[in-house]
Amino acid sequence: MKILVINCGSSSLKYQLIDIEKEDVLCKGLAERIGIEGSRVVHEPTGMEKVTIEEAMPDHKKAIEIVLNSVAHPEYGVIKSMDEIAAVGHRVVHGGEVFNDSTLLTDEVMDKARECIDLAPLHNPANIMGIEACKELMPDTPMVGVFDTAFHQTMPAVNYIYAIPYEYYEKYAIRRYGFHGTSHKYVTERAADILGIDLDKINLITCHLGNGSSITCIEGGKSRNTTMGLTPLEGLVMGTRCGDIDPAIIPFIGRKENLDYDGVDNMMNKESGVYGVSGISSDFRDLEDAAKEGNERAKLSLDMFESKVKKYIGAYMTEIDHTDAIVFTAGIGENSISMRESICKSLEHMGIKIDPEKNNVRGKECIVSADDSPIKILVIPTNEELMIAKDTMNLVK
Ligand code: ADP
Repeated sequence: MKILVINCGSSSLKYQLIDIEKEDVLCKGLAERIGIEGSRVVHEPTGMEKVTIEEAMPDHKKAIEIVLNSVAHPEYGVIKSMDEIAAVGHRVVHGGEVFNDSTLLTDEVMDKARECIDLAPLHNPANIMGIEACKELMPDTPMVGVFDTAFHQTMPAVNYIYAIPYEYYEKYAIRRYGFHGTSHKYVTERAADILGIDLDKINLITCHLGNGSSITCIEGGKSRNTTMGLTPLEGLVMGTRCGDIDPAIIPFIGRKENLDYDGVDNMMNKESGVYGVSGISSDFRDLEDAAKEGNERAKLSLDMFESKVKKYIGAYMTEIDHTDAIVFTAGIGENSISMRESICKSLEHMGIKIDPEKNNVRGKECIVSADDSPIKILVIPTNEELMIAKDTMNLVK
C-alpha cells in the first residue's frame, strides 16, 4: 500500500510517498515559495537524480497538482498512475481537545478541524488549505489527519490546567496541549521495541531536541506531561524561542520598548532562545564552533539549553515510579555528541550513565548508556512521516 504524506506550511509543502509494507520511501520533495514569485518543486525519487521543476504556484492546489504529476511522471515518477496512492496522510499542527487520535477527514471532521484554527492561527490554516486542495484533486482517495497535539491528550488535568482563572479554560480552551506528538509517539514505540518492553508498561523521558524542542514524560507508553504548552513557545530554550520565562517580562518589555502584544510575541518566538542569547545563530553547529573559539555568549546559550533539558529530565522523573530510558531524537538529539554527553554527565547520581564511546554516533538508532547504567539512554532518529503513513494505513485498511 502506497501512502502519500503531506506537511503543508503557509508557503511550502513537504511530501513523501511511502510503501508502507516495506517502510520504503519511494520519493520525497519540497514545494517552495507557494504564492510567491520564483516558486519551485524539488522532487527526489529514491535512487534517481533529483529534479527541480520551476513553475508558477499561485496556491496550494497548484503545488499539489505539480507534486502529483511528479510522483506519477513517466520519466522521474515512481508510480504509473495516481490511482496507486491508497490514501493521503496530512500533518495538522493543532487538534485542540477535539482530536485525541489520527482521524479520517470527512466533511464533518473538517468542520471540527476548522474550529481549531483559533488555537494555531499561524499553522492550521495552511494545513487545512493543503487538505482541501488534495480533496479537490483526488476526490476518491481517503484523507487522514494526523495531529501534533493528539498524542498528548492523555495528560491528566493536573498537568494541562494553567494556574490562571479556570474560566479561561472553559471559555477559550486555554490549557497545555503539547506538540511534536507524532515524534514522541514514534520514538516511544521504537524504544519499546528496542528494549523489549511492552508498550503499555514502558516509562520514558523522550527528548525531541531540534530547532524547536520539547521533552515528554511517558508513562505506560502514553504522554503524561510535556514541556510545550498552549503553543510551542513554552518549555525548553529553543533555536529562536524563549521557552519558560517570568510572564511578567511580557508587559515589562512591552512598556519599555513600546511594543504591542504581537511585537512581544514576535520577540519571544523569533528573536530569543539560543539565537537571542548568543547574538550569533540559532544553529547549534555554529554555536558549538563559536564556543570552541572562546565566544562566551555562545557558550552561555548552550549551557542554558543544557540546563533546561536537565531540569525537565529531573522534574519528570519525579512523576513516574520508575524510568526505563531517556531517549534523544531530532537534529540536536540525534547528532550532537557533545550536547548528549554534557546533559547526561551530571545525571549519573540519578542512575543515568552515558558511555562516551558508545555515544560517539550520529543519526543512528543505538543504546549509548554504559552497560551498568540502571536507566538506559537511547538515540532514536525520529521519523514523523513514517508514523503519519502508519496511522493513515491503520485507518484506511
Ligand atoms: P526542525 O525540524 O525543528 O527544524 P531539526 O530537528 O532538523 O529541526 O534540528 C535542527 C537543529 O539540529 C539545528 O540547530 C542544528 O544545528 C542541529 N544539528 C544538526 N546536526 C547537528 C550536528 N551534527 N551537531 C550539532 N547540532 C546539529
